[in-house]
Amino acid sequence: MDKALFDEMIATRRRIHRRPEEGWTEFETNWLVVERLREIGGFDILLGTKVVNPEAVMGRSEKLVKEAIERALANGVPQSFIDETEGYTGCVAVLDTGRPGPTTAFRCDMDCVIVSETADPAHVPNAEGFASERPGFMHACGHDAHTAVGLAVARWLAEHRDELCGRFKLVFQPAEEGVRGGGAIAASGVLDDVDQLIGGHVGTFARLGEVGLCHTGFLASTKLDIYFEGTPSHAGADPHKGRSALMAACATAMMMQGIPRHGEGTTRVSVGRLVAGEGRNVTPVHAFMQAEVRGSSGEINQYMVDAVENIVKGNAVAYGVKGRIEKAGEATTLDDCPELLDVIRSVAGGIDGVKRVFDESRPSGSEDCTMLIRRVKEHGGRGTYFLFGCNQNGHHRADFDIQDTESLPVAFEVFTGVAKKLNGLAA
Ligand SMILES: [Zn+2]
Repeated sequence: MDKALFDEMIATRRRIHRRPEEGWTEFETNWLVVERLREIGGFDILLGTKVVNPEAVMGRSEKLVKEAIERALANGVPQSFIDETEGYTGCVAVLDTGRPGPTTAFRCDMDCVIVSETADPAHVPNAEGFASERPGFMHACGHDAHTAVGLAVARWLAEHRDELCGRFKLVFQPAEEGVRGGGAIAASGVLDDVDQLIGGHVGTFARLGEVGLCHTGFLASTKLDIYFEGTPSHAGADPHKGRSALMAACATAMMMQGIPRHGEGTTRVSVGRLVAGEGRNVTPVHAFMQAEVRGSSGEINQYMVDAVENIVKGNAVAYGVKGRIEKAGEATTLDDCPELLDVIRSVAGGIDGVKRVFDESRPSGSEDCTMLIRRVKEHGGRGTYFLFGCNQNGHHRADFDIQDTESLPVAFEVFTGVAKKLNGLAA
């Protein structure tokens, strides 16, 4: 790729890496994206409720959003931009070549992980001076890379629009972690006219120099926030008058591990957090749990959700407390799209630095790009997903790193190569 564009892409990734923002609070990142897109020119930039359906928003904290807006303003983000977002991060940039042709969408996510970056001086972001400036937050999943690649692709598309037909939609998605943002972008309808949508991720099963073609493998998942509310009492004098939210939550956590496995596919269940009680000698009034289930099909995932709902209901009765579940995130499975994967395969095979292109279907995590793809499919389009490699010790770790100067150009070449194949004038 062009040297100036390469330099800009790496600098952008490193700038975003320094200012990690968790899901739904990506105001600084989103402003960087919009400022760059406006400087490039030629894009119609959609923000706020044009790209996020508030009714489908999951796992968004009004308090964290308020704090993030204050922080963004203090860091130079203009109030006029905050107003444009209507409080919802996320952006879709539309480029119309003015010539008939398909509408192709590329998706990049923008949010970080809740983990502190290692202080190890050998860790590249420390050695090169672009480590996270926000303790407790880090781009430990590479979404900084995804956004930087998306912006490089944007500049390339704008500069090559005379060689292209149809339209492009670049999706800068908030809140992928916890699979919270994809559903709301999908439900906005902004992708309903898209013929094909492609998402990518750095790392996971792909090592440096490899490109993975994802046929299936993502598990459907539902993130559940579970609340119990009991009745306080003096733990010594009146234990019989209290109703313990803590005990209902503990029983729920134990019973969730006992949901029978499903005979027709893979399941997962996790209770990641349980906070309960007020003090040593008071019957606990409040309990809060963050839990999740997964399944290798939507039906199997729903089987797990139904089981959790029954357990919460049953324990509410058994312990005499109130139980409530809120859906905090959702992703579905990835349907195989061999035709689009063949396009990526043919592009990836010709990229400098790509030594191996492989097919991938192992069950892994979950990805709410699947929500975007499902929506596009429901409207007659298609979608798929690929991996571009890096060498890492594990995602979401304090020492996660991606060898940006080697890994990012591969993703850039895949997206722009696919754009030429699908929307080239000769296509
Ligand atoms: Zn990720």
